Amino acid sequence: MVEARRILLKISGEGFAREGETGLDTERVKALATQLRKLTEEKVQVACVIGGGNILRGKQSESLGINRATGDYMGMLATVINGLALSDALESNGVPTRVMSAIDVHKVCEPFIRRRALCHLEKGRVVVLVGGLGSPYFTTDTAAAQRAIELDCSVLLKATMVDGVYDKDPNTFDDAVLLPEVSFQQVLKQRLRVMDQTAFTLCREHDLPIVVFDMNAENGLLAAARGEKIGTLIKN
Ligand code: UDP
Repeated sequence: MVEARRILLKISGEGFAREGETGLDTERVKALATQLRKLTEEKVQVACVIGGGNILRGKQSESLGINRATGDYMGMLATVINGLALSDALESNGVPTRVMSAIDVHKVCEPFIRRRALCHLEKGRVVVLVGGLGSPYFTTDTAAAQRAIELDCSVLLKATMVDGVYDKDPNTFDDAVLLPEVSFQQVLKQRLRVMDQTAFTLCREHDLPIVVFDMNAENGLLAAARGEKIGTLIKN
């Protein structure tokens, strides 16, 4: 497994809402903040890329009669809302943070500047990255992969609602088996679902290991960051 000093944690929007619901659930945000605090106590440097699916995804916008690019910008703004909520919960827990955005919202966040983000990480601040990559037609998974590489993180931890990657869809097949470790090659060959193609390709080409794990598992985040066996590790 991969033991990490600096991690990139991707938290999808559903981690901010009550299960099966939309919007923000402050209890879930508080629980996330508690786990993150424990991680910083272990001197792990943490950058989080925040999703926005609990509020809006660009893909949904067309069915609502909204132009796709506009919908994507709305999705990016949704990540700003989640990121501010997480930052607030962390600061209430005594954890220093900086919210850095890929789109201009300078009244509430700093702009994302790589060297400044690195400086915050070195100082032990949790860097909350919002606004994805700042361009429509991308996802926050792709932003997570790109930022992890740019910020020299040793692993991308993808916190999800499932406990890892299965050999086949566990919702359809009763005999689906959780894979504790798979190679990038195997993911491609068996067409396993990990993250979107662009994000996956970036990780594979830059030799960045990914751990997919259940964000609701007790101390799951700590285990994943410590390199303990949890979820699925994907590496070359
Ligand atoms: N988005 C975008 N460009 C980016 C990142 C995100 O346009 O670089 C938009 C896109 O519409 C996406 C939404 O923001 O659907 C929310 O992000 P995402 O769907 O990745 O959130 P998650 O599924 O992780 O909750």
